[in-house]
Amino acid sequence: MKARSIFHRTLAHESAIPVYHATFKKVPKSLSNGLHNVDPERLHEHLSYLKERYTIVCLDEYFAARRPKRLAVITFDDAYTSVFENALPILRDLDIPCTIFVNSATADGAFFWRDLVRLIITSGLEAEFDKWTKHRFRIEGQSFYRYTKDPRNNSREVHQTLVAFLADQSGVESTMPSFSQPATRFISSPLVCYGNHTHQHYVLSSLTHEQQTAEIITIHDFLNAHPDLNQTMVFAVPFGGMDTFNESTFRILSDLGYSGTVLSRQRLNRCPAHLFGLPIAERFMPDCTPLSSQICTLLEKSVPK
Ligand SMILES: [Zn+2]
Repeated sequence: MKARSIFHRTLAHESAIPVYHATFKKVPKSLSNGLHNVDPERLHEHLSYLKERYTIVCLDEYFAARRPKRLAVITFDDAYTSVFENALPILRDLDIPCTIFVNSATADGAFFWRDLVRLIITSGLEAEFDKWTKHRFRIEGQSFYRYTKDPRNNSREVHQTLVAFLADQSGVESTMPSFSQPATRFISSPLVCYGNHTHQHYVLSSLTHEQQTAEIITIHDFLNAHPDLNQTMVFAVPFGGMDTFNESTFRILSDLGYSGTVLSRQRLNRCPAHLFGLPIAERFMPDCTPLSSQICTLLEKSVPK
């Protein structure tokens, strides 16, 4: 315990960018498999902890800082309705800014394709899907949840197949409401900023260059059509791992004038970093335990070997 507090003191300059997803009080049954959820009470504890120990800034301020030191940025990915209902009132009370990374497909009313994956799991239809597709996407040693987002499977084809399969399953999908916030109910507030998280949230590295371009430009245009909303020119890579994007992704972002990219690799930020010529920042997904111990673990992980 003593060693952990020493890490806290000596590495206190690191910056923290948590990425939250859903903030349901109780996760709906159809989403209960694999959904990253932090309930509002725990979220309040996390944000209070960060406000006490870090300077909380918006994402663009973080990227503009030449030497980001002990800064924190709050981000939410995928624009779940629960964030607007349960998280934003907490941020307002604490006077904390945040960025919500949006997918234009779900903002336009479509189902989030990863929620379809969760629906198939909770309906016990994974094996049936594999049989129905004649094992087309299966990857040895991986679960259905995992192989459907493996970069070796073109996400667009997986998504189209999921939709066709569910349509063939006597209305399983029609029993599920959408859990994504429609754009018509996005909130315009000085504390809330919106960012590009692609159109459909596909694994970009699984797509062709043309498909990637379409994924990024569709929401770029969508956000441009909403000048009433604060926007960031920082991009959030769907899934956020090193194997989920490639050089093409960064070339497209640079051509469109994006100022940076955030990943999600369970890390804190020590100093500015670049990838394919664009500034990048690391994020981590907090779980439902006190944030102090999670930050401590991340600090220990980042000690140079
Ligand atoms: Zn996401």
